Amino acid sequence: MTSVPVPEGSAVTSNPTRVLVLNSGSSSLKYQLIDMRDHSRLAMGLVEKIGEDTSALVHTPLSGGGDKRVRETRFADHDEALQAVALELASDGLGLDSPELAAIGHRVVHGGLKFSAPTVVTDEVLEEIERLVPVAPLHNPANITGIKTARALRPDLPQVAVFDTAFHTTMPEYAARYAIDVETADAHRIRRYGFHGTSHAYVSRKTAELLGRAPSEVNVIVLHLGNGASASAVQGGRCVDTSMGLTPLEGLVMGTRSGDLDPAVIFHLERVAGMSTDEIDTLLNKKSGLVGLCGENDMREIRRRIDEGDKQAELAFEIYIHRLKKYIGAYSAVLGRVDAVAFTAGVGENAAPVRAAAVAGLAELGLAVDADLNSVRSDEPRIISPEYARVAVAVVPTDEELEIANQVYDLVAAVDNNDN
Ligand code: ADP
Repeated sequence: MTSVPVPEGSAVTSNPTRVLVLNSGSSSLKYQLIDMRDHSRLAMGLVEKIGEDTSALVHTPLSGGGDKRVRETRFADHDEALQAVALELASDGLGLDSPELAAIGHRVVHGGLKFSAPTVVTDEVLEEIERLVPVAPLHNPANITGIKTARALRPDLPQVAVFDTAFHTTMPEYAARYAIDVETADAHRIRRYGFHGTSHAYVSRKTAELLGRAPSEVNVIVLHLGNGASASAVQGGRCVDTSMGLTPLEGLVMGTRSGDLDPAVIFHLERVAGMSTDEIDTLLNKKSGLVGLCGENDMREIRRRIDEGDKQAELAFEIYIHRLKKYIGAYSAVLGRVDAVAFTAGVGENAAPVRAAAVAGLAELGLAVDADLNSVRSDEPRIISPEYARVAVAVVPTDEELEIANQVYDLVAAVDNNDN
């Protein structure tokens, strides 16, 4: 095991078993405190509208019972928000000063090419994450603030960054490069990085488990369909292609993002529609996808409207499914042999009509869904294809927080063993 740097005076003892997972968004902060002995959640919560007039902290203690607590007040920045979270945890006897806390894990959206594994945060690591801000202007700044604040609160504790892009760094060069001028691409670090990597890693591994096989033996197409959505082709546990690219805008039709489109649409919007770069950015990231097509990004509401005969909602659904099918077909070709297609995240785990429609007509690819199995609601990983189908179609609930905590805990344990 290679040695990794830990902060001076690190408080890692032989038996701290808790990991705090922090996910800092541009105006939000989500957290979970997880006991790694049994993966139980001790507390979880969310701060929203950080920086606005009224922010809201919703804290749910899970270990000793107790009711959900809501605080509405202004948190000017992530620093104030995290201080408030620390107080909430302390009032449940789960304060950040606890010797049982092994590490704090941070979700970091963009790790570029440098970070292919979870990494203990040092000053140099922070500088590198800062250098990636130009390719992740919406995400990395909030992640950086979260790390700095947590470090200030517990400077002696390992702070570990887990990157959304890391799982995709195994993509071969021919899948990661855009076919544009190489010098320009390299000068500006333009290439396909992929996102949702923590989820794709977790779900592909769980799918192999569900099939009773080792991840190294199994080829899986993972369809992470949340508000943001991405597909990946995972060959023997390694990602070989994914649908998101330089940013999370590429690929599938999403809740509010367009996914793939002819890049010339952008020139057209600029030259003919007279839109500015920022306006186009907002259009494609926030006002497109399902919202742009039918004014609604919640799949439940879209299905309800379709049931009422709404043609606009129906077309939006068809466009969403058509793109999904194209990626299933493309990744079947990329993988050559597919053992499973796994649906995950809000839409993938809950929307049976999406799963049924996505594989309808793909019998030639070995894909089919059993209507009864597909309609079962469950939080457990499960197979929904009929026994005769060559490819298993699975529903595998994702758990990004647990995956982050696992990666963090493994790394900290490795550091601890090295020191002993
Ligand atoms: P994200 O983490 O990207 O915000 P989620 O993975 O939580 O998103 O997915 C949110 C989406 O899941 C919602 O916008 C909605 O479209 C969909 N969703 C959630 N529950 C259901 C359900 N019961 N049926 C259909 N779609 C659902």
